[in-house]
Amino acid sequence: MVLAPVKCPHCGSDKVKKNGTDRNGKQRFLCGNEKSDSRKMY
Ligand SMILES: [Zn+2]
Repeated sequence: MVLAPVKCPHCGSDKVKKNGTDRNGKQRFLCGNEKSDSRKMY
């Protein structure tokens, strides 16, 4: 089985960084592709 690579839902980039987990234990990511203004977390 192959783990699907994490991709940014906004831009489709796979250059996302793990950004810890939220209170509910869900993995959070930070998009590493949106260089200029808004780097989105999800
Ligand atoms: Zn993105």
